[in-house]
Amino acid sequence: MSIDLTTLSIVEARAGLRSGQFSAIDLTQSYLNRIKALNQTVKAYLRVTEAQALESAQTADQAIQNGKDGALLGIPLAIKDVLSTTGVETTCGSKILAGYTPPFNATAVQRLFDAGVIMLGKTNTDEFAMGSSTENSGYFTTRNPWDTERVPGGSSGGSAAAVSARLAAGGLGTDTGGSVRQPAALCGVVAIKPSYGRVSRYGLIAFASSLDSVGAFGRTVQDVGLILGVMAGHDPKDSTSMNVPVPDYMATIGQGVKGLRVGVPKEYFIDGMQPATEKAVRAAIAQLEAMGADIREISLPHTRYALSTYYLIAPAEASANLARFDSVRYGLRKTQGDLWDTYKTTRGEGFGPEVKRRIMLGTYALSAGYYDAYYLKAQKVRTLIKQDFEKAFEQVDVIASPVAPSTAFKIGEKADDPLQMYLSDVFTLPASLAGICGLSLPCGFDESNLPIGLQLMGPFMREDVVLRVGHVYEQATKWHMRQPAL
Ligand code: GLN
Repeated sequence: MSIDLTTLSIVEARAGLRSGQFSAIDLTQSYLNRIKALNQTVKAYLRVTEAQALESAQTADQAIQNGKDGALLGIPLAIKDVLSTTGVETTCGSKILAGYTPPFNATAVQRLFDAGVIMLGKTNTDEFAMGSSTENSGYFTTRNPWDTERVPGGSSGGSAAAVSARLAAGGLGTDTGGSVRQPAALCGVVAIKPSYGRVSRYGLIAFASSLDSVGAFGRTVQDVGLILGVMAGHDPKDSTSMNVPVPDYMATIGQGVKGLRVGVPKEYFIDGMQPATEKAVRAAIAQLEAMGADIREISLPHTRYALSTYYLIAPAEASANLARFDSVRYGLRKTQGDLWDTYKTTRGEGFGPEVKRRIMLGTYALSAGYYDAYYLKAQKVRTLIKQDFEKAFEQVDVIASPVAPSTAFKIGEKADDPLQMYLSDVFTLPASLAGICGLSLPCGFDESNLPIGLQLMGPFMREDVVLRVGHVYEQATKWHMRQPAL
């Protein structure tokens, strides 16, 4: 076989598996070989599940021989380490969960397994998904495949880097405030953050429950649509998962943009953003116009409050969610003196500085006397941000913007300045607070050959629209075909 199977998109790999050109074992082995050669450079995986992958590949090949078919049958994917996987250590990138092995799969993961997906391993993340660079991982920092001195973004930086470096055909991440969209942009791959409630959160270890969502990475828009289609849908185990039908995304993905109204929010082109990013995003919008879209300037007036709103709500929810890591039921336990000392020592040693910062911020915002001034007020502003989008979507079908204000930054550059780090999510946080969907896809490169991302935001539950617009753009421009030279 002369072609490198890791260069195939999921759609192409499926065609090859279907026609018997190669087997799921061949495909999986190609990825495992590449992981062996390059993971020490990219550091995308926290652990590689080689034996399980080969076993699943064998099962997939058997199913294919028995005439089975399916969008993801025999496709090797990378899974972010905040998603529970039966019998496979799941740490959330935290020392406090070292050695924790869940007895069940997250629903999103289970649905992929039921569809014949092969898990290659668990990918690195900022601890408990808190961060934008993977530098907050309790284990190591993942490298950007385009420049290994730079961050891959975060928190799902491991999955983004794995897909970019062709260490997986696609992957799962989670997005609470931008954690699939921003790393996808920084690594030059595609990612979709579905609407809140589109994909079950069951088995996703909670960070901020009213914002958490499970998203997909791929090297093409079609590929993320396929993964989403398999994961999505109501799950009785997550009371916030929506009981609405999941459309066939592939049926509408080819319909183009003719006549679609694309909104460009004036608040998303700000002073201090990297000129190359602005230029590429504006060029992408011009491209959509050339293909028949109707471009309109819109306003999302409460955008500037999104960052402070998010950094009250998310830490408040995190402080409550992380109380469960008490050293008794899961992971690390440092027995010291009485029970109280044991809690303090375990949490003191098990959590890293960013997680502690969030627990303190959240506890403060929820405490008596401050609750009304901070938390309650943030909830009210969140409603205003949501209403901005509702009004905008009366005038437009989709909203186009940058994903992040700049391309990948150097490792260490923002590590000591939490506020600078938080600012890399200014353009992704509003959609998270509003619970709507967003797609991130490559739209160019800066002068240092670092990828730039275009964000397409759609109305609640209209993943079909962002996928459709993203697909036609990708077909016309082919930015996604460029590969990092590792
Ligand atoms: N970077 C943001 C944060 O640190 C978003 C993280 C996420 O979406 N999980 O909270």
